[in-house]
This record gives sequence, structure tokens and C-alpha cells, in this order.
Amino acid sequence: TSVLSGALIGLAFSGTALFMDSRRRTLASQLRRAIRRKDLTVLYQPIVDVSTGATIGAEALVRWTDEDGAPVLPELFISLAESHGFVGTITTFVLQCVLKDLGDLLRANPAFQVSINMSSQDLTDPNFLPRLDSLLHAHRVPAASIGIELTERSTSDRETVIEAIRQLHARGHIVYIDDFGTGYSSLSYLNELSADVIKVDRSFTQTIGTHSITASILPQILSMARTLNLRIVVEGVERPEQAAYLALEEGHISAQGWHFGAPTTPQALKARLAQTT
Ligand code: C2E
Ligand code: MG
Ligand code: MG
Ligand code: MG
Repeated sequence: TSVLSGALIGLAFSGTALFMDSRRRTLASQLRRAIRRKDLTVLYQPIVDVSTGATIGAEALVRWTDEDGAPVLPELFISLAESHGFVGTITTFVLQCVLKDLGDLLRANPAFQVSINMSSQDLTDPNFLPRLDSLLHAHRVPAASIGIELTERSTSDRETVIEAIRQLHARGHIVYIDDFGTGYSSLSYLNELSADVIKVDRSFTQTIGTHSITASILPQILSMARTLNLRIVVEGVERPEQAAYLALEEGHISAQGWHFGAPTTPQALKARLAQTT
């Protein structure tokens, strides 16, 4: 019976794998169609200076609802687009939305910055930077208003990443290392990357106020960032005591999370800026 049940389990597994495969294929073609029809949307999550409470910028986050009307998690459809090699079309779409929305936001606050998430595939696409240049030029938006978020995971090929960051800096973009602490970058690599800002992953924020061993990692990340002269954005701030903890930290720490505001429409973000400036 053990052989039989083993075989049955095997069948069940390959059945699930097949199902996943066909679901992914269907989703991928729906996603391609949605991109062509510009059926995705972009929401903005406020980034706040924790010591002043000012909204200094926002992160652009893409949203997609499949043809049955169900929202699909960005993590899922971004990885889908990556494995089918068309994530660049999503990056371009997001960039176009951001450039369209930025005019109003910059009128409300000329120092406002919006950051967009880049895939590692964008880094190796020779058309990415020329496209970025021409879109910025067409919309008359200064590069300094657009931040570029890279994850530690996307930073496996050192030379490519270092060169991309150099190119982005030459244009005046701010470069963020996203989900910091979840990858495997060494300190020397981080220093070599010469990014401007680290976004501390929300798993560290969750340790604030707890007595877990890992609770000591966050203060060490913050102090390391200060040593390397990196600005800090702490992700996933959900509770007031987490915000209060960060406000007491040395230096200017920025943060984002449900506590400061969920991802929201460009109209709502604009209204928020009008209220606070
Ligand atoms: P990320 O870049 O680290 O974005 C932050 C994620 O944390 C967002 O999830 C945001 O909604 C969520 N979040 C914000 N505040 C809180 C909080 O207080 N608690 C918790 N638990 N979560 C919070 P989202 O929008 O689902 O995006 C997930 C990931 O998908 C992003 O992580 C990013 O890696 C990727 N992604 C999203 N939009 C884009 C995009 O336009 N292009 C690319 N390449 N990737 C994107
Ligand atoms: Mg991000
Ligand atoms: Mg992040
Ligand atoms: Mg994240």
C-alpha cells in the first residue's frame, strides 16, 4: 500500500503542478492583454518623515484585477511577467502613470518624490534607460523627483547593478535598496553599491517592542545605515508604538505602512498633500 499511496501522492502533486501551470499560463495571457489595454492601475503609499509627520513622498504600487474581477497579488503577477520576460512593459506602464500624476503632486510640493519598483530584468534591458530618459523629457519631470527601488535579490550580478546605479545617479535619480535585510548583501557590497536610501523590510518593524532575539537587529541596521550615510525608510509600520519608537531614533527616519496610510489613489494623495502643506 505504501507504494500505491506514494504513487497516488505523486499523481496528486503532478496534478497540482499541472493546474498551477495552466492557471499561470491563463493568467499570463490575461495580464498581457491587460497591459496592452492599459487596464492596470497604480496606487501611491505615502512615505512620512516620522519626526515631523510630513508626507515627503510616496511609493508607486501596481494593481491588477483579472478578467473574473479578482484582484491578483502584485508579487504573483510580477513574478509571472518576469518568468515570461515582459515585466519591462509593466515598469513602463507604471512610469507613465507616475509621470502623468506627478505634475499635480509637484505643484502641491516641489520636493515631493515618487519611487517606482524596478525588476532585475529592467537592469539588464539596454532600452530601459533610454526609455526612462525620453519619458521624463516628454513629461518635463526632473529625474530627482523619481526614485528607483531595487531589491537586494535583484542585485546578484554586481557589475550590472553597480553600473546601473551609476547611470541612475548621473541622471539625478535617488536609488533605494528595497526590502533591506532579507537578501544576502555584505556590508562591503552595500557600501560599493552607493545607494542613497535603504528601505528596511517590514519583518524587522514587527520586532519593535517584542523581546525576541531578532529585535536587536533593527537598531543595528539603523546604526549601520547611519555609518554608511544612507537615508532610511522603515517599511510596514502598522502600529502607533512602532512609529513612536522610530521617532525617538537618531537622525531623520522616514516610514511607510498602514499606520501612516495605505496605498491610495493619486486624487486622494493630492488631497492629502493639499491638507498638510
Ligand atoms: P514592496 O516594494 O516592498 O512594497 C511594499 C508592500 O508592502 C506593498 O505590497 C504594500 O502594500 C505593503 N504594505 C505597505 N504597508 C504595509 C503594512 O503596514 N503592513 C503590511 N503587512 N504590508 C504593507 P504590494 O503592493 O502588495 O506589493 C508587493 C510587492 O510587489 C512590492 O513589495 C514589490 O516588490 C512588488 N511590486 C508592487 N508594485 C510593483 C511594480 O510596479 N513593479 C515591480 N517590479 N514590482 C512591484
Ligand atoms: Mg518597493
Ligand atoms: Mg519594500
Ligand atoms: Mg516588500
